[in-house]
Amino acid sequence: MPGPNGALAVGGEVPTSSASPTPTPAPAKRIRRTFIPDYQLPPIVGGLAPVITRIQTKHPVVFLTIDDGNIKTPESIKLMAEYDYPSSLFLTRDTVADNPAFFNAFKAQGSLIENHTVTHNINMVRQWGYQQQLNDMVGMQEYAFQHYGRRPTLFRPPGGAYSDVMRKAVADAGMKAIVTWEAKANAGKMDYQVGNSLRPGDIVLMHFRAEFAADLAAFRAAQLAAGLEVVLLEDFLGVA
Ligand SMILES: [Zn+2]
Repeated sequence: MPGPNGALAVGGEVPTSSASPTPTPAPAKRIRRTFIPDYQLPPIVGGLAPVITRIQTKHPVVFLTIDDGNIKTPESIKLMAEYDYPSSLFLTRDTVADNPAFFNAFKAQGSLIENHTVTHNINMVRQWGYQQQLNDMVGMQEYAFQHYGRRPTLFRPPGGAYSDVMRKAVADAGMKAIVTWEAKANAGKMDYQVGNSLRPGDIVLMHFRAEFAADLAAFRAAQLAAGLEVVLLEDFLGVA
């Protein structure tokens, strides 16, 4: 059946006649298009959070993720609004602490804040045991809740390296998955670990860097060339 915006029929987001009334109203959430789910997030097994590199889906969707938070320019807010891209922002406390409110503009556009640790130690897998990793994750969980009103559900390891110890800490910190990538927008161009174009279900890595506009332009060109729609990863996974 057509959805309110001529969308495809529906996942769990759209109420049906059999749905019982929700006791606590959910906060208004922007739904662009709902897709019949053809991918299920693997569960936490044996205490270990799953690791997601891309989403196996037949839907023409791509997921934009933007990391760290170092460079905060009004231009990046303007561009994201102009392109109307919801994205997952993997922020690091120590890089956003000088101006956490900057990221509220992206949140208002439909993006979500996720967990990229407190300190961004790219050697955390090698240097730290379970407890120290967990502490660095929990610190960001609490910071995100304090400043953005939601505890992150997704974790991105600084530098991308992970281990089973990290997977356990991620689960114990209350998150649902580790998210890595196979494509990135970097230095004004796209880099692909596989192939030479974006594929449905790709997770794209970007950063809040001085090259934000050039990186976003490279992503936009690739996204349009591939005929993909930018969808919020958390919506697709049901972990928003
Ligand atoms: Zn990072």
